Amino acid sequence: MTATLIDGAALARRIRGEVAQRAAALTARGTRPGLAVVLVGEDPASSVYVRNKVKDCEESGIFSVLDRLPSSTTEDALLARVRELNADPAIHGVLVQLPLPDHIDERRVIETIAPEKDVDGFHVSNAGALMTGKPRFRPCTPYGVMKMLEEAGVKLAGAEAVVVGRSNIVGKPQALLLLQENATVTICHSRTRDLAAHCRRADVLVAAVGKARMITGDMIKPGAVVIDVGMNRIPDGPNAGKLCGDVDFDSAREVAGAITPVPGGVGPMTRAMLLVNTMEAAERAAALDSERNAGSKR
Ligand code: NDP
Repeated sequence: MTATLIDGAALARRIRGEVAQRAAALTARGTRPGLAVVLVGEDPASSVYVRNKVKDCEESGIFSVLDRLPSSTTEDALLARVRELNADPAIHGVLVQLPLPDHIDERRVIETIAPEKDVDGFHVSNAGALMTGKPRFRPCTPYGVMKMLEEAGVKLAGAEAVVVGRSNIVGKPQALLLLQENATVTICHSRTRDLAAHCRRADVLVAAVGKARMITGDMIKPGAVVIDVGMNRIPDGPNAGKLCGDVDFDSAREVAGAITPVPGGVGPMTRAMLLVNTMEAAERAAALDSERNAGSKR
């Protein structure tokens, strides 16, 4: 058996098209959606990510601001900038690219972003909203995974879902989103005993570990849906330096029913869902404004 490919790049393209239409409609009603991206320092991977985010905005008709701050920026200066963006009515989404330099407390920065502008969904109040089943912003990567599962027609109610990884940005919110769709969810991590046995029970397996090709075909239940969040560089051999996932694609595709490729799977979906979250933030802000205006005319 060879698994069906879940084409994240194609779905992301469609979602970007839908966002562009929503952005044009909202702009025509007087609110141009706006995203601010703040980068501290010159980390090469982060620089590429923020450039892509801004480019995606431009192509979708979303106004964007890219703040490049030197790595010597103090925590206080960064917090002050975040507060300015919180107060800026032209900005509906504020994203501070992680990781931050060691002298800055990441948590403090995230908690300073206004929750209604926290389009990454990392603020504790947004994490809590997700936890209690009333999400405001779903973190982009797990949100993108849910869209791919929906697109592939995967039935989640009652399904065994296994998430490998428990980070606050991928694994945990992923598990909560799957739970919300009534899957029976297991979260695995570095202390899990017999990871392979857990994986083999999964109807839906999400790998978010950060270890190149660690999930192999023999760890997958025949016919399972496999979502590979991992983005790793191949350490050696003829393809050294190229991008690969946490799943060993060649052996997994012989067993799985459906699988996402790396690249071209979760990555482009993560980017697309940031635009969706920014749209949602802008639409909510515009609705609040018109309520306020209606109130003041009464
Ligand atoms: P983290 O490093 O924050 O978390 C990794 C998780 O994997 C941890 O919970 C860790 O467990 C677990 N883990 C580590 N080793 C093992 C093991 N041997 N067996 C089982 N579990 C293990 O990573 P992120 O969640 O931020 O990212 C995960 C991957 O996804 C990375 O490759 C990253 O690059 C990629 N990524 C891709 C995105 C995309 O857009 N495609 C977006 C975000 C991330 P423990 O908690 O016990 O340490």
